[in-house]
Amino acid sequence: MNQKVRVRFAPSPTGPLHIGGVRTALFNYLFAKQHDGVFVLRIEDTDQNRYVEGAEQYIIDALNWCGIPFDEGPGKEGSVGPYRQSERKSLYRQYADALVEKGKAYYAFDTSERLDFHRKDHEAKGKTFIYNWHNRLKLVNSLSLSAEETQQKIDAGEDYVIRFKSPKDETLLLQDTIRGTIRIDTNILDDKVLFKADGMPTYHLANVVDDHLMNISHVIRGEEWLPSLALHQLLYNAFEWNAPEFAHLPLIMKPVGKGKLSKRDGEKMGFPVFPLSWNESQGYREAGYFSETVVNFLALLGWNPGTEQEIFSLTELISSFSLDRVNKSGARFDPDKTKWYNQHYIKEKANDELADLFRPILLEKDISALSFDNDFVERVVSLIKERATFVSDFWQLSHYFFTTPEHYDEKAVRKQWKPDTGSIMNQLVSILEDITDFSSQNLEDRVKQWITDNELSLGKVMAPLRLLLVGALQGPHVFDILELIGKEESIKRIEKGIAELG
Ligand code: GLU
Repeated sequence: MNQKVRVRFAPSPTGPLHIGGVRTALFNYLFAKQHDGVFVLRIEDTDQNRYVEGAEQYIIDALNWCGIPFDEGPGKEGSVGPYRQSERKSLYRQYADALVEKGKAYYAFDTSERLDFHRKDHEAKGKTFIYNWHNRLKLVNSLSLSAEETQQKIDAGEDYVIRFKSPKDETLLLQDTIRGTIRIDTNILDDKVLFKADGMPTYHLANVVDDHLMNISHVIRGEEWLPSLALHQLLYNAFEWNAPEFAHLPLIMKPVGKGKLSKRDGEKMGFPVFPLSWNESQGYREAGYFSETVVNFLALLGWNPGTEQEIFSLTELISSFSLDRVNKSGARFDPDKTKWYNQHYIKEKANDELADLFRPILLEKDISALSFDNDFVERVVSLIKERATFVSDFWQLSHYFFTTPEHYDEKAVRKQWKPDTGSIMNQLVSILEDITDFSSQNLEDRVKQWITDNELSLGKVMAPLRLLLVGALQGPHVFDILELIGKEESIKRIEKGIAELG
């Protein structure tokens, strides 16, 4: 690759970024970083009717949270800014005019009422109205009118748009890195509007002009833009500019059934479709997913490393990613897999980081949790994180480290509490009282020795002991629990159990 790699993510700020958009941004980021290139964020806000307050900031926050920040964009000016199309408004018109001059585009005066009429008329006949070579001379434009008539209309202040003049009887060979060569018969293309009556460019014109002016080397975007590729290539040809390389990423499909993943799928099946919360829609971040999880599962939606490896850090992705291994066909979204990734990353997280995330939950649950120091909380977390998917699972998995059990699981009591259990537990208390080194390993050695010496069975001791410490037959290694809650509390819990269960 001789040219410097410059890629862009070009969202329209019409609402929160869907995770499909985050995936597009991620693939651009990975490609840029792998080639020591530049990742540009361009805000495509020429359609003021669809502009949503806060959406641009949301996009920026989402990229930052995922750890895939842009190099150039709003607030990070490079040499080819501004990076908001609304701030570039004045530069598009000259490009539309240049195409008119070259005979590649024309002025069209047809009113929206007239166009509506043609559309309905065609519909009634079971046809679709397309504005192009086969009817453009019958419509009201600078190709059907004389130069004077055209000028008169412009001078009279009539509304007009500038349309691209799609060529007739040509076969276009489009190149897509993921899809290979695509043949298009230009006769099926319509004469798309490039410049609107309100003085704003359309997406097509602004997008191509900006990709050119911003020296974009590779356009990596979603499959939904593939139908625009022919026009974009024709625009590059008309301007006599080198086109960037194109790669259209496969759609992200619903977990079940046909069609692309939608917000409604998330609502129905209870998973987020946005990286961060937006109004009443919960985001991945707020639902307790780590950014590592989101990056990892998105990377594998449409790309495959060619090996069995499923766990990838961002750094590993930067070195492994390649557009050659992006699939053509849609990638099915699997909400269970996203949880599986979070389970993985929660285990990988440092205990102190998890303890910090757990503290606010402890505060909410029980004020006395305040008295547990960081070390204690970290040790609790280290014992239970294996069983958690989210930090929000921690309390349910660990409350007995912080509070003495109030109740004992009835089924477990019936099964484990035998007539002689009370007396065995009493003996155990006196054993524990004699132990000064209350470390898990020493406790295990001593208690097991006592069990052997007295020809007791392990089950007869360990299950009721767990029940009294935890309130149920769950939790990590019993001796780890004893060590962590300490001698005094352990004995207190066993005595309380004997008193209650007899
Ligand atoms: N503004 C378009 C969008 O919202 C950009 C498409 C492209 O990347 O060319 O996705």
